[in-house]
Amino acid sequence: MRGVVFLGGRKLELREFPDPTPGAGEVVVAMKASGMCGSDLHPYRAVGNAAAALGLGGGGGPIVAGHEPCGVVAARGAGVSEADAPTGQRVMVHHYKGCGRCKHCKVGWAQLCRQGIVVYGMTGHGGHAAYMTVPAYTLVPLPDSLSFEEGAAISCGTGTAYGALKRLDVSGRDTLAVFGQGPVGLSATLLGRAMGARVIAIDVAPERLALARDFGAETVVNAKETDPVAALRELTHGEGVETAMDCTGNPDARVAAVRSATTWGRVAFVGEGNTTTFDISQDMIRRQLTIHASWTFSSVGQAECARFVADRKVELGRLLTHRFRLEQAERAATHRRSLNLEVIACLEALVQAAPMDTDKLLAHVREIRRTPARTRLTDRVLTRLKTAGRA
Ligand SMILES: [Zn+2]
Ligand SMILES: [Zn+2]
Repeated sequence: MRGVVFLGGRKLELREFPDPTPGAGEVVVAMKASGMCGSDLHPYRAVGNAAAALGLGGGGGPIVAGHEPCGVVAARGAGVSEADAPTGQRVMVHHYKGCGRCKHCKVGWAQLCRQGIVVYGMTGHGGHAAYMTVPAYTLVPLPDSLSFEEGAAISCGTGTAYGALKRLDVSGRDTLAVFGQGPVGLSATLLGRAMGARVIAIDVAPERLALARDFGAETVVNAKETDPVAALRELTHGEGVETAMDCTGNPDARVAAVRSATTWGRVAFVGEGNTTTFDISQDMIRRQLTIHASWTFSSVGQAECARFVADRKVELGRLLTHRFRLEQAERAATHRRSLNLEVIACLEALVQAAPMDTDKLLAHVREIRRTPARTRLTDRVLTRLKTAGRA
């Protein structure tokens, strides 16, 4: 099978990988949708080792990218029963592997395992390929009413927003300020609204603010034109917001999120990277703030997020603004018949709500296109982009 590899230095490539065989305790998932997350931009743009760009270690050979995988159970290894992973079951993948035995792994927080972790799509082969092999315990069932694309979104960006909203204990009594309206921030806007909060969305890109308003934000603030702290105070009778979330990783936005919170307010940091300086006494202690540092979600939380989206009929599909079919898996002479590679046509890298990344992808498609063997694939992507009016 072929898989997408991020090479760093803003380069990606389709490379050949062996068809997967499930080992003991493992399942092969046939990919139906594989999302593109904001944090994919770190290994994509990295100088040198891609995984190291996220502080995740790793440093071996090429890794299939994609940590928002969603598909169906295609094959099982020894020790995995039909009840554990029914063939054809629609599943998401909780994209971390830990030891499986410690106190963190036992409760679904494999990413907190001290024995060393695999982050799929970063340090272990991820979802941007026809198949992906994972331990059976990483599978999270996808509710029938959700599409594979929605499942992919929940597998990182949307799940991360949900996890932070839970940490903040957001309810209908709260005004929620969401800094940054990329895939995670827009998900927080959608979900926060569904939880009953009054949502105020902050970003610097007008097109993202327009999406935020569309997704239920009561008010939007362009931080390039207006001081967001002053705007949020004005919108809350001088009090400040009960809850604020930073989805940018930008130091100014983090400080603004903290300063815009009311006394006894709650703030969550979700956006990664950078260092930020606060006046701890004035900004936090004197106002009795609670600060949460929220890293993604557990496998249990992922299932809960999917249930919430399905039951509340959250229109998550609207978050997916671009779709790319990168590859029609070609029949390889060496393929395993049981996996039926012939009928697979399912790698879709979804660039969520990130119009600017489309241009970069397009540039790469043109670059790859110079290789004759890849022309068919890239022609298809170009056609799609043309249809979407972007090429
Ligand atoms: Zn563990
Ligand atoms: Zn992610």
